[in-house]
Amino acid sequence: MKSKVLVPKKRLGQNFLISPYYARRIASAVESSDDSKVIEIGPGKGALSIFLKERFPRFHMIEMDNDIIPSLKEKIGDGKWTLHVSDVLEFDFRALGSPLHIVGNLPYNIAALIIKKTLLHSPKVGSVTYMVQREVAERIVAAPHTKQNGFLTIFCQFFGSPKILFNIPLGAFVPKPKVESSVFQMNIDDQIEDRLRRKDWESFFAFVSNGFSMRRKMLAKSLSLKTGIDKQAIADNLIQAGFNKKIRAEDLNVHEWLRLYLQLGAMLK
Ligand code: SAM
Repeated sequence: MKSKVLVPKKRLGQNFLISPYYARRIASAVESSDDSKVIEIGPGKGALSIFLKERFPRFHMIEMDNDIIPSLKEKIGDGKWTLHVSDVLEFDFRALGSPLHIVGNLPYNIAALIIKKTLLHSPKVGSVTYMVQREVAERIVAAPHTKQNGFLTIFCQFFGSPKILFNIPLGAFVPKPKVESSVFQMNIDDQIEDRLRRKDWESFFAFVSNGFSMRRKMLAKSLSLKTGIDKQAIADNLIQAGFNKKIRAEDLNVHEWLRLYLQLGAMLK
């Protein structure tokens, strides 16, 4: 049966890739020695899936829009692939083993949530290859002392070294999005739990988030306002840890955030 014509759903971030050139480039960037460990988030009508299927016949897809499934199946045809009709934010990745290699042209409205959820599943995740808004990708790969360096930068760089692979022009999509897109990739560092035990991740990320909550202010001041710890005590600890007491959140890289967290840890608990 032929699938019917679909109106793209804005609330599901449906901007479909219509360029086989870019779809193939994304699929070619994914590396996995086990095809059953490759997962595509949001396959939509299958623009990228068709190329993933070529390289990874037993790959998995997670799509929540029931209406689009007939078009997807029509495009990719039969095979050994598995489709999970589910909201990715509710999906239990543990059932799929590890290391997972996750790829997707992400729905932009929930891209940051998907990135957080999948990275928190590390080190069971081996790599992610995601298309997101260019501005979001630039924040993810940002360097210290730049305006783009923010919570998402530190969160992502905690798990590895993200790189932008290429940008994709507006004309490669239907409907045309308002902003350009970029594909970024990161291999997950398998030593993360040696650097910080998993049970401390949440408190570390809350610490970083507090630090960025008033990014124009000096870090000692914003941390003091957020945690209630005396500003002078924080400033003294900053100096002891080898930092200038006037630093701002955007001046630090992820290793420095970790060092600071470990230094101030006793005061935070
Ligand atoms: N991969 C296709 C392409 O490149 O043309 C579609 C990409 S489109 C930007 C995002 C896709 O994610 C849509 O198919 C949408 O239905 C799906 N999606 C949106 N929210 C989702 C969620 N919470 N869980 C799973 N899929 C979702």
